[in-house]
Amino acid sequence: MSDGIATAGVRAVAPYAARRETSRGRRYPEPVSEHRSEYQRDRDRVIHSNAFRRLVYKTQVFVNHEGDLYRTRVTHSMEVAQIARSIARALRLDEDLTEAISLAHDLGHTPFGHAGQDALNECMREYGGFEHNLQSLRVVDEIEERYADFPGLNLTFEAREGILKHCSVNNARSLGELGLRFIERRQPGLEAQLANLADEIAYNNHDVDDGLRAGLIEIEELREVRLFARHHDAVRAAYPELAARRMVYEVIRRMINEVVLDVIDTSEERIARAGVASIDDVRAAEGPLIAQSAAVHADHLALKRFLGERLYRHYRVLRMTAKARRVLKELFEALFDDPRLLPEEYADNARAAEAELGKAGRARAVADYVAGMTDRFAMLEHRRLFDPGERT
Ligand code: MG
Repeated sequence: MSDGIATAGVRAVAPYAARRETSRGRRYPEPVSEHRSEYQRDRDRVIHSNAFRRLVYKTQVFVNHEGDLYRTRVTHSMEVAQIARSIARALRLDEDLTEAISLAHDLGHTPFGHAGQDALNECMREYGGFEHNLQSLRVVDEIEERYADFPGLNLTFEAREGILKHCSVNNARSLGELGLRFIERRQPGLEAQLANLADEIAYNNHDVDDGLRAGLIEIEELREVRLFARHHDAVRAAYPELAARRMVYEVIRRMINEVVLDVIDTSEERIARAGVASIDDVRAAEGPLIAQSAAVHADHLALKRFLGERLYRHYRVLRMTAKARRVLKELFEALFDDPRLLPEEYADNARAAEAELGKAGRARAVADYVAGMTDRFAMLEHRRLFDPGERT
């Protein structure tokens, strides 16, 4: 690893990192802070947002009420931030920006994880669809109302480009400068690439832990996965008496460590080979520079495939998924058919959006309301709308 150009205890970021001098700034210009960097402010704004607090009660894989030890969206986001930040430091990227993107990446997630997003996407099919990634951007750009001078959190361009991981070319056309890279097939900054990869590393590994804890997968079947088997067998050999729970943690810790070190080495090599000297060089590079080696990527993919087949499609997870889809679909339909049932503030939004954009506007306002719900609020709201015995 190359030495930092650190001076007086301040760690300087590399020339190819996101830097104030090359930042594309905020949508609404603001005075510079005396004691915080622009990317620190981004991260702090995310932490103070309503959408971030709601992540406490949103599902990652297991619904919030299934047990207190399972990951929720907020603990998932913190694990993503931890993994991303430690790689960012090793690569001399901007840690604050990396953290801001990591903490914000799931802000637009619906209740009940991917089941919720799929259901809402179906409901919105005729009205532009629903994609949680785009919704995360909508949350920080429009939905949060915390400032007198502008809507949203007014994050920097670099944070916003990181939050918008994927986007259809169609949607990209309506996003101006931010959408351009999806049309021109350019890369985002390294901090964005990193947060994206750290998301995968975090969930693949913590879903092993949660899946084992829930008894939905077994250690013996996990040994079909090379990455797991390798570390499991090494830990077993070194500590034959180790209790199962501790063994699992030891194995997962080693798995994450292997993957993280590989990302650092592989990315360093790619960055050096590409010879990038600025974030704009990074954006113009042929492909992502933050990456896993081919071997670790294949191992990681095998783990992901295993989880896809054995955990996410386990009948107990599928039952939860089916219920979640039903609840979200019914909530959307009831509120879309009669927006007067929305709480006043949201009904006003729906009316204003409909006046401007017709039915698509009404649908978007209802989708915003439903997407913002936590798991438990969605269940309560569903009872309030469908169960005559429930107080409205
Ligand atoms: Mg995520």
